[in-house]
Amino acid sequence: MVDLKTQYEKIQAEIDRAVLDVVSSTEYINGPEVRQFQADLEAYLGGGYVIPCANGTDALQIAMMALGLKAGDEVIVPAFTYVATAEVIALLGLTPVMVDVDPDTFNMTTALVEAAITPRTRAIVPVHLFGQSVDMEPLLELARRHNLYVIEDNAQAIGADYTFANGIRQKTGMMGDIGCTSFFPSKNLGCYGDGGAMMTRDADLAKRMRMIANHGQDRQYYHAKVGVNSRLDSIQAAILRVKLPHLDEYCDARRHAADYYDAAFAEIPQLKTPVRQSNSTHVFHQYTLVLLEGDRDALRQHLTELHIPAMIYYPVPLYDQQAFSHYWAGGKLPVTESLCNSVISLPMHTELTSEIQDIIINAVKSYFEK
Ligand SMILES: *Cc1c(COP(=O)(O)O)cnc(C)c1O
Repeated sequence: MVDLKTQYEKIQAEIDRAVLDVVSSTEYINGPEVRQFQADLEAYLGGGYVIPCANGTDALQIAMMALGLKAGDEVIVPAFTYVATAEVIALLGLTPVMVDVDPDTFNMTTALVEAAITPRTRAIVPVHLFGQSVDMEPLLELARRHNLYVIEDNAQAIGADYTFANGIRQKTGMMGDIGCTSFFPSKNLGCYGDGGAMMTRDADLAKRMRMIANHGQDRQYYHAKVGVNSRLDSIQAAILRVKLPHLDEYCDARRHAADYYDAAFAEIPQLKTPVRQSNSTHVFHQYTLVLLEGDRDALRQHLTELHIPAMIYYPVPLYDQQAFSHYWAGGKLPVTESLCNSVISLPMHTELTSEIQDIIINAVKSYFEK
């Protein structure tokens, strides 16, 4: 699904030097690379504060802890997402309220969120799924009206831009109260292990999150809050410092590969190619097709037989996961149900060539010619 080896080989000299420098410095924890990466990412995002942490799931948890959400508070999440989004909500004793998504963008919409608001709702977690921003302008307006926090799950969309009606562009992750991202190796900005970060424009929230991520201490051995231990390693920060200047070019490479797939699949009526919103760039963390008619699992089986990797993101609605089923009282969410049965993601990464894509495309086409 991804080719991290070729990507590494292109920047190998710089990466190897950066890693060995940390090794010989012995500043493995909270070394200068962590602060430097933080500053680099703040500059890339156009200001604000970045708080590095151990992974994207921790980032979501620390964000919710910093907002002071209390047991029983409701947090609205999409039912069509990776489990991490809802997991931390449940772990903190909060109640995940799952909403359906838009059939074109796979993202939550303002209308669906509005219908799920109750007097106990405290926060909304828009997930910028597969690399495209949720339509944030109306959602932020709804949140303001109802006095709700907005925590962006930006694990799949770092580098994407959203354009407001007045023409102002902002990076995903920088529009809500807090944005959370992951540097898992296969994410658009990936390190060589685990990593994550919170981002915010609010100095006070930034301070609180930094404190919570560091055992709740405001100075050494003085613990004002119960916190967690969640750090980005110096080695991972050094790797991310080398990779961040390439992020825009990596996003372009993904977009270019997506264009090539789009053109090839336009002639197959059973396939719906990814829908791109006019007010968001798409950074294609995943290239996800919808099979409009026919058996998705048979298509995947066909590709497997031809040694073409294909993945189902995501096969099961959140409310059908055993761990989350007790949060769900209502009926099925029709779009989520339908997507879980009809989506299929093809290999998508920065190193795709038209030769590789032609092999994948021909394998897909051969299924419909059977
Ligand atoms: C990857 C991912 C996460 C979690 O990130 P980790 O670093 O693996 O903990 C959270 N939300 C979404 C949507 C993701 O894709």
